[in-house]
Amino acid sequence: MTIVNFYAGGTLDRATPLRKDSQALAGRLARPQTRILAYWRGRHLVASGDDTMAPLLLSPGEAPDLLDQGTPLFLGLADGEAYFALDVSMLDDISGHPALGAGRPMELRPLATRLDQATGSLLAYVQALMNWRQRHRFCGTCGSPTEAIDGGHALRCTDSACAAMIFPRTDPVVIMLVHDGDRCLLGRQGRFPPGWYSALAGFVEPGESLEEAVAREVQEEAGIRVADVRYHSSQPWPFPASLMLGFHARATSREIRVDQDELEDAQWFERDWMRTNLGSERFRLPPREAIARQLIDAWLEDRL
Ligand SMILES: [Zn+2]
Repeated sequence: MTIVNFYAGGTLDRATPLRKDSQALAGRLARPQTRILAYWRGRHLVASGDDTMAPLLLSPGEAPDLLDQGTPLFLGLADGEAYFALDVSMLDDISGHPALGAGRPMELRPLATRLDQATGSLLAYVQALMNWRQRHRFCGTCGSPTEAIDGGHALRCTDSACAAMIFPRTDPVVIMLVHDGDRCLLGRQGRFPPGWYSALAGFVEPGESLEEAVAREVQEEAGIRVADVRYHSSQPWPFPASLMLGFHARATSREIRVDQDELEDAQWFERDWMRTNLGSERFRLPPREAIARQLIDAWLEDRL
């Protein structure tokens, strides 16, 4: 069974061939049916509903001033109509803008529980691209400014002698639930809310396989050795540019040695104890939107 985590499961057709067709994209930006999502200083502009939230969708005619100033980023097609994202961070105040004023700027993570899966995926896609552009305004080779091309999916150095191309980055992070049958290994960082434990995780290093990264991180953070590293599922995690790769692994040692630089605590938790205490003040887990919770639930429910 393929597991689709939150922030994945988008329904947009990315229509990648269109990215290189600047004439077609310009035509799309002249159509009233085209929809534009606005992004302002790390936040998405959303329209409030009763229980759920959705992006504020502008038509090109509502935002001619903004289109003149920014470079719209082509996202793809939905029901045959084009969707773009536009960074409007050049405005100091959006509340007074005739079109933007109807939206509320919100960061993606606090929004997640109020978005349906397809919208969560769409905004994760926007977030990842905006984070990347924000961090690559200058060429890493020669220091000249970069410019967006291919509908915003590539950046090119504006120094014609250099002309370096820069593409969006995705940084792999392994996240793993280690178990030894009836117990699993969970850790907590000092910044977590009280009682909150999660699966261990860490960045994959250069020259390392995913399985090796799992084993190294568990050994470094908790002093536990593992075997039988098995892939479970993945999750886009654009905070700022990660792809979480989820695994289960079997422990081959028992004695925990916590790396206090990485974790405040790590413990073995018994399955029955977890079921009894989950949700109490002494024991909380990440929300279901997080792949960590999916890994933990799969083990708790014997779905390995
Ligand atoms: Zn350059």
